[in-house]
Amino acid sequence: MFNSLSDRLTATFKNLRGKGRLTEADVDATVREIRRALLDADVAVPVVREFTGRVRERALGAEVSGALNPSQQIVKIVNEELVEILGGETRRIRLAKSGPTIIMLAGLQGAGKTTLAGKLSKWLKSQGHSPMLVACDLQRPNAVTQLQIVGQRAKVPVFAPHPGATYTELEHPAGDPVEVARAGVEEARQKLHDIVIVDTAGRLGVDADMMEQARQIRRAIVPNEVLFVIDSMIGQDAVNTALAFDEGVNFTGIVLSKLDGDARGGAALSVASVTGKPVMFASTGEGLDDFELFHPDRMASRILD
Ligand code: GDP
Repeated sequence: MFNSLSDRLTATFKNLRGKGRLTEADVDATVREIRRALLDADVAVPVVREFTGRVRERALGAEVSGALNPSQQIVKIVNEELVEILGGETRRIRLAKSGPTIIMLAGLQGAGKTTLAGKLSKWLKSQGHSPMLVACDLQRPNAVTQLQIVGQRAKVPVFAPHPGATYTELEHPAGDPVEVARAGVEEARQKLHDIVIVDTAGRLGVDADMMEQARQIRRAIVPNEVLFVIDSMIGQDAVNTALAFDEGVNFTGIVLSKLDGDARGGAALSVASVTGKPVMFASTGEGLDDFELFHPDRMASRILD
């Protein structure tokens, strides 16, 4: 992930080394290389345009600083702009002032929500919290069972319509996801869990029914955080998916999943940039421990390493 982007940018900056002063032509050539590297990494075109525009403007306006040579100065600017796009400061979960902190997960089917629910709850437990999971994905066959398995592995209780509820019971009143979400949060409150994570249904593509259901769940449980989980491998589709979810559920943070794959990283940068929402967590594998708090500054440094 980001390897090729990282190599390309490093090579670009290398060309500037030894230059005592940067001409406008030098800046333009560098910005052109940055543009190509970002496009090849699958960053969305408008995001690339805005990013390179800002880098160019700042590079041309940069004061001659005694401490930094021109190449270091451009690296610094690119670094700061990358951090900015990725959400600036590391964003922690906003905890509820009273009662359980409610975290809702949203995203397309296969994005990695259920897996994340397990990872997040295990991590929260290690931080001294007492999380509970709620299975509201009543759409996908076996989603409830999958969450129950994840819960068992993370040693976290799972609230479900009833154990092993399946797709075929969708019609059943107990299978109304909004009611399950509401009842799950209530159960967490009564059992004094301080965090409740609500897994919701996704579809293979954005569709109106799914979004309406997610919106109703959001309205019913009033979450402290709505995390939008996105598969880093989906490339250019990421932008439209993210915009649709942002409009639909107004998410508060982004989780990048499958960062262990050979994604070129563009989705990550694009989604954060077009929505202006911070990346909060990264999922880096199928195991429960393949999970990281996302630090924009560290990721930017990794890209520019
Ligand atoms: P959901 O439909 O959004 O709940 O997605 P799932 O959690 O079921 O994940 C879909 C598939 O992606 C499963 O096979 C997971 O094992 C896999 N998966 C989830 N997160 C990651 C990740 O970070 N890395 C990799 N390599 N696979 C993942």
